[in-house]
Formats: sequence, C-alpha cells, structure tokens
Amino acid sequence: MLKEFKKDTSVDLFIIGGGVNGCGIARDAAGQGLSVTLVEMGDLANATSSSSSKLFHGGLRYLEYFEFGLVRHALTERETLLKVMPHISWPMRFVMPIYPKMRFDNMTPTSRLLTMFMPWMKGRRPAWLIRLGLFIYDHLGGRKILPATSSLKLAEHSVGRPLKDKFHRGYEYSDCWVQDARLVVLNAVDAAAYGASILTRTKVVSATRHPTFWEIKTEDQITKLCKTHYAHTIVNAAGPWVADVLGQILRVNSAETVRLVRGSHIVVPKMFNHDQPYILQGTDGRIIFAMPYEDEFTLIGTTDVDHDADPRNVECTTEEIAYLCNFMAEYFTEEITPNDVIWSYSGVRPLYDDGVSDASAATRDYVLSLNTEGAYLLNIFGGKITTYRVLAEDALAKLGHDKTWTKGAPLPGGNFEWNGAPEQTSKLLASYPFLSQDWALRLIRNYGTLAFDMLGKAKHKSDLGIEFAANLTETEINWLCANEFARTSDDVLWRRTKLGLKMNVHEIKAVDQWMIEQERS
Ligand SMILES: Cc1cc2nc3c(=O)[nH]c(=O)nc-3n(C[C@H](O)[C@H](O)[C@H](O)COP(=O)(O)OP(=O)(O)OC[C@H]3O[C@@H](n4cnc5c(N)ncnc54)[C@H](O)[C@@H]3O)c2cc1C
Repeated sequence: MLKEFKKDTSVDLFIIGGGVNGCGIARDAAGQGLSVTLVEMGDLANATSSSSSKLFHGGLRYLEYFEFGLVRHALTERETLLKVMPHISWPMRFVMPIYPKMRFDNMTPTSRLLTMFMPWMKGRRPAWLIRLGLFIYDHLGGRKILPATSSLKLAEHSVGRPLKDKFHRGYEYSDCWVQDARLVVLNAVDAAAYGASILTRTKVVSATRHPTFWEIKTEDQITKLCKTHYAHTIVNAAGPWVADVLGQILRVNSAETVRLVRGSHIVVPKMFNHDQPYILQGTDGRIIFAMPYEDEFTLIGTTDVDHDADPRNVECTTEEIAYLCNFMAEYFTEEITPNDVIWSYSGVRPLYDDGVSDASAATRDYVLSLNTEGAYLLNIFGGKITTYRVLAEDALAKLGHDKTWTKGAPLPGGNFEWNGAPEQTSKLLASYPFLSQDWALRLIRNYGTLAFDMLGKAKHKSDLGIEFAANLTETEINWLCANEFARTSDDVLWRRTKLGLKMNVHEIKAVDQWMIEQERS
C-alpha cells in the first residue's frame, strides 16, 4: 500500500540545484514529458552560474592541456546556443595582443613538450604556436556563422589605441557572450512551461533512499516550513555543494569529490570605446579577459585559486584585485587601481577532482556519475555554461530518456534570427516610441520577443508605473516576479538584470523597499 502510494505521488525526476546544469536538465526532462521538481536553496543562478566570465567559448587555453574533446564539444555548442538564444547571446571578436615575453603555464603538456624539444624558448609561448592554436580553434568545432581568426596590426586599428606602444601585432578570433544568470532563469521558465515545478528558496535537508523511490525533506528558507517529496530519481546538480549533498544529505558513500577553484572578476568604468574584448596573456602563463560590460563598464577576470572555505563565503580578495589591476597595467596605457573597482564578484568552479596539482590544470569537462544502489541517483560534477545543454542531453540519456529536442528549440523570447536583435529593437521602438534606443535594446537583449508581451498595451511611459532608475519600471519588476521567479531586489538588480550597477545606494534601497511592500500587500 505504502509502495503504491509513493508510486502515484513520486515525480520522475527531483533535481537539487537551480544553476545552469539543474535548470538545463529540468527543461530538457520536462520537454520530454517527465514529471520534474527542481529545488534551489537560494535564488536561481545565485551561485557559480551567475559568476562566470559569461562566455560561450571553446576555451582556447584548454588546447594547451590537450583537452581537444572538451574544446570541440564546446566550440560546436557555441553556434547551436547562439541560434536558440539570440537575445541573451551574441558573437564577439576577441583581440589577442602578441608580445614575446608572454609565457606558458609551465605545467601544461604543451609547455613541457616545447621545453623538451625547444629548450631555448625558456617557457615562452611563441607566436606561431598561438597561430596554430587559433587555427585549430577555428576548425575544430564546425564553425559556420562566426568569422575566422585574422591578424591585426595594432598600430593601425582602433583596438590598438588603448594599449601600450610595445604591442604591435595581434590576432582577433570569435567567441560568444551570454548573459549567464538570464540563461539559467530562461531555462527554468521554459521547464515550468512544460510542467516542471520550480521551487526557489527551498533547501533539501535530508533524504531517505528506498529501493524504487526517494523520500526527500525540504525546508522553505523563508517560512522554515518543511515538506516531504517523493521521486523515482534524484539528480544532484548542486554545483560546489555536489559532494556535500552526496555525503551529508543523501548519505551515499562515494569516493568521488569535487575540487573548488575560485575565480574572481572586477568591474571598472569603461576603459575603451569599442565593443571588442581582449584576451591577455600574462608573464605567469595565465590569461585574463577585459571585456565591454553593460555599456558603461569593463569586466576583467578571472583569477584561479583553490578554495577551501564554504562555497557560500566567496569573495574577491584584495590580492586578487591587485593581481587583476597589475595584469592590466602590462597592457593598457590607462592604469587602473583597486580604487577604480566599482563591483567585484567571485564564483567557485565545481571541478571533478582528477588529482592534478594545479588549479588552472584541473579538467573543465563534466563527469556524470550514476549510482543505482537503490532508487537512482545521478551526480553532476563540473561542466561549463557552454556545455550545459549537451550535459542535460547526456544526463537524461544516462537515465534512459533520449528524445533529444533542445538543439533547435529557442529559449523563451529567442524566436528570431541569431543576428536579429537590431531589427527586433527597431520593431520595439516602432511599437513603443516613448522608449529610448538604449532602453529598447536592453529590453530586447534581456527578454527578446517577450519584451512586447511585457510592455503590453502601454502607450506612454507613465503606463509602465513607477520608474525607479536606469529605466527600471514597476511593469518590469512585476514581470520578473510573475514570470521569472524573482522575489527580492537582488534577484531583479543583480541576476535577472544587472541594473544594480547603474543605480546608487538610495535607488537600490527604493527598489528594495517597494518590493518588500508589494510582497506584504
Ligand atoms: C570564475 C568563473 C568563470 C567561469 N566562466 C565560464 C565561462 O565564461 N564560460 C563557461 O562556459 N563556463 C564558465 N564557468 C563555469 C560555469 O560557470 C560553471 O561550470 C557552471 O555555472 C556550474 O553550474 P552548476 O549548475 O553546476 O552550479 P551552480 O550554478 O553553483 O548551481 C548549483 C546550485 O545548487 C544549489 N544547492 C546546493 N545545495 C543545495 C541544497 N541542499 N538544496 C537546494 N539547492 C542547493 C546552490 O544554491 C546553487 O545555486 C566559470 C566558472 C567560474 C567560477
């Protein structure tokens, strides 16, 4: 009798973790007709998935680790993803200045090989090798839309202007930008549209494993109310907490573990007046990016440091800020100091522990580990934003659900051509002439064609209710709460949008107060 009851009330899949991997799996599974519950202890994308470098990329530097499989996988995905989310993702041409002093990380297999056969290079990364790497990068992943690598004479090109005079040559190559937190949220929105139950601020606190089903206890992080759920299969997509959930909450013995590697970014006022990002090689063998960010800023990162503390307590240290500022000083004429940093963020990469000694060298590929000693448990280790969709396909195939469907299916609002954002912006402006060009573009870049639904019958700006600051209106906040699981001002200002960057403390407080009052009423 008990068994039958569980059979009737169990969902097929209970997913722990509302990051990109959990939400990607929820969407794919719900679209295949499975019953799905996803629980997230904080807001969607509150952890690693909103703290990335925000790139759909193959990861040029992983070629030096001979991770050809990962790079090919990721490169192939770039264009697939760009086509299904042309609102939140767009191509970028990365500028790589070349300078003879740039060195390898001496732990990479490529560096070791070069040291063996060309010892006179003394760890330097030669330009011909970079060109070879970019050639492989161009040809490994079935590139059709994105333009190939080309050489740059920096003295004759606008991208050379902010750089120091010593940089004469460089290359430019393609990768794509993605609004990482929006990617997560839109996957959750689509999962819900297919019937998945998405529970935020809900933490899994314990679970009991039966032969054919799981009994799972969750605690609402606001009301502290507990609830019991039943599921045939658990997917543990808890990112940096994957090993804790496995050992302490699900109480499953496993030798598998995760290596936590912190990466930090800083945001400074715009350092250059063009839309191309830079990839910079350091004298320590590392690379960092300096990228145009939210119109008015430059985003710089990342670092790579082993992280031993709780993944919740992750912040950019003063050492990391100094490191990034010093790195930039090698390249740019305009110096930045820690005082220029407007905002910083840090995330913890949950890398599968493959036993290598160096944080930069740990594999970025994902490992899916299925445990069948009772009701099924699938643990997700590692992964990248770029590979979240194929990870979801592989995860579901491992569980016997292989009706793949997400490859050509646009995310909500992404039903237009990969390069159609300017046209959509013009259409939005034509329908809502009271918007400014920047405002319309921001709405298309966040909501795509759903911006029309959000603005509805508005004829005047005043029809959108209170305008807080940075063109954030009552209508937009209401939309985010009603359709995108937003509950607090942080959810709105720092994840579903990045408008917090453009507001002062008083304006942020006003949004916060207003949302608290709305929740109460
Ligand atoms: C600095 C940095 C830069 C990066 N840049 C890139 C990049 O440019 N491109 C790229 O492709 N990849 C990048 N990555 C990698 C990518 O961001 C991660 O691989 C990815 O976001 C991991 O997603 P996730 O869903 O596994 O984890 P998370 O996003 O961390 O999600 C796990 C979630 O599980 C929740 N959770 C944990 N325990 C519980 C519980 N008991 N109950 C309920 N919920 C729970 C957490 O709150 C969390 O939200 C970067 C990573 C870092 C750190």
